Amino acid sequence: MPTTVSVKTTRRIDMIDITSTVQKEVSTTGVQDGICVVYVPHTTAGITINEGADPDVCEDIMAKLSELVPSHRGYRHTEGNADSHIKASLMGSSVSILVENGRLLLGTWQKVFFCEFDGPRTRKVLIKVLD
Ligand code: ZN
Repeated sequence: MPTTVSVKTTRRIDMIDITSTVQKEVSTTGVQDGICVVYVPHTTAGITINEGADPDVCEDIMAKLSELVPSHRGYRHTEGNADSHIKASLMGSSVSILVENGRLLLGTWQKVFFCEFDGPRTRKVLIKVLD
């Protein structure tokens, strides 16, 4: 069974660093060498890996996504969140990270980000560590 963690978002569009939560789950399983899959079971949220050192990187990503996919642009899906679905697909719904010596094998500047596109909400992230 995967572990389900809860992520609370506070803006309509938001990127939240969940790296420490994911690493904690890896440590809990005791897996030394394997793969960690992080999956978002939502249609208007996504997950990505990118730079965590400079918060402006995430701000730039969110601003550019909003520029490319404006919130109102004559979409066929009339729930008011058509742009959220498109942004979620652009980011993707899962990432896989190699685990070595019990640690996520991320690059120096890499962090795992939960991407909210129709918040604020309380969301779920599923984490599974494979041996
Ligand atoms: Zn919708």
